Amino acid sequence: MSQPGKVYLIGAGPGDPGLVTVRARELIELADVIVYDYLANPKLLDWAKPAAEKIYVGKRSGMHSIPQDEIEEILVDRAHKGLQVVRLKGGDPFVFGRGGEEASELQIDKIPFEIVPGVTAALAAAAYAGIPLSHRDFSSSITFLTGHENPEKHTLSIDFKLYGKTNGTLCLYMSVGQLPRIIKELKAGGMSGEMPVGIIQWATLSRQKSVYGTIDSILEDIEQSGIGTPAMIIIGQVVAHRAKTEWFEGRPLFGKRIVVTRAREQAGQLSQILSDQGAEVIELPFISVQQHFDAKRLGEVFAGIAVYEWIIFTSANGVKNFFDLFYKAYDDIRCLGPMRIAAVGAATAREIEKHKLKVDLIPQQANADALADELIENEGIESVQILVITGNQNRENLVKRLESDEGRAIVDTLPLYKITKTDLSQDPAAERFRKEGADAVLFTSSSTVKSFVDQHAALTLEPDARKPVFGSIGPLTTQTLKDLKLPVAFEATQASLEHFVVETISHLNSET
Ligand code: SAH
Repeated sequence: MSQPGKVYLIGAGPGDPGLVTVRARELIELADVIVYDYLANPKLLDWAKPAAEKIYVGKRSGMHSIPQDEIEEILVDRAHKGLQVVRLKGGDPFVFGRGGEEASELQIDKIPFEIVPGVTAALAAAAYAGIPLSHRDFSSSITFLTGHENPEKHTLSIDFKLYGKTNGTLCLYMSVGQLPRIIKELKAGGMSGEMPVGIIQWATLSRQKSVYGTIDSILEDIEQSGIGTPAMIIIGQVVAHRAKTEWFEGRPLFGKRIVVTRAREQAGQLSQILSDQGAEVIELPFISVQQHFDAKRLGEVFAGIAVYEWIIFTSANGVKNFFDLFYKAYDDIRCLGPMRIAAVGAATAREIEKHKLKVDLIPQQANADALADELIENEGIESVQILVITGNQNRENLVKRLESDEGRAIVDTLPLYKITKTDLSQDPAAERFRKEGADAVLFTSSSTVKSFVDQHAALTLEPDARKPVFGSIGPLTTQTLKDLKLPVAFEATQASLEHFVVETISHLNSET
């Protein structure tokens, strides 16, 4: 038999992938097999090797689930094959997670294992609701309880009367369904009907929801709020002393679903700013960007690169592709020569500055016309050799103006990439958009607008889906939306991602 593998029982945390441990991430990256639960966020699987085997053994209260012994069999079987097996469990593996049973089984089979703790739901829900679980004045004990020992057993496993007189904080797992009975028992044990209660569903995720009340009011409050499972119930005086600032649910885009339409390689930054503001982001890459160039032309330009007095970058994509190719040709940045550098806008400039190069010119308005104006008016470009880096959508207008009687420059254009429309018909994100809709779709370029219209069929909303408004990053994109008869709800006051997000927040919050 080959070398035995190893099983890692890993806490996957409460949901937000940012809340797993560094050790958990390392092991997910190395795993040959990942066995995961309903409450482990599937996004964690993105860190796995593409070839890793991913086995879902999720269970949901009341629904069919894979029996525990079968799960244990899978772990043992894969480990015997010499594989590195990650067993991902929501929260912490040893808090109502059957981690103990799995560890014993591995011990019996003499399979080496490691246990990686995780942020358990009680801690996460409390933090994300601003409830201090302990407090010098109100609570000196914290108790974790479960409404049922296992989701298949619909009986109370604990005598809740014993906890009716507590002065501490109670954290109830798996208890929403049993709450009427639990409340009765707690009151029978002496708990006041005035005792504060908080319930937090899907803690740490953008769909987090919470409701607050007292032991006497909470059942009605649940009904009115529509809160469901999975949820953490926190009972105690500390609930009334929670932070006044709703740091998580109170963020300006919390509860809003927003579609980002940029190419996958570029979506990250905008998605990040939006999620920091609380939005749930759906990335629908309507376009994709690929390196594409004429090798002969590239060779000529590079050979004579030192003759240019100006190099103009009209997009961040242009910058990325230019330097990627430049470093393949040269191993010294000084080969670029003493040229001056212009960028069409702040995002493009930032990409250039990553190479420790200063940008000499960024126009006030982030567009090619403004760039041409400033070069012509302020820089004296007559007979000056200029290199313009573009994509397949050439900047003919810019080039024409620089070369015309206004400018009289000598301009070479070097296209380095190609923007193509993507096919979203099979994309799970597109399916989610069709089903659930969104509050806003953010268009960051004319090409994303055109692709959106072309993919209409893959993006037609189902009747119950939220109908989004359309936002535009700037005048050119707005014009394209108008040309294609799409209503523009708002436009960024300046063409930058930050301004775009500010405008999105102000528009979506003024609507309600
Ligand atoms: N091992 C897990 C608990 C599993 S029991 C842990 O340590 O967190 C499942 C219960 O955990 C759910 O019924 C719910 O009460 C709670 N839970 C898990 N994730 C949650 C979340 N994101 N928000 C609120 N409650 C959660």
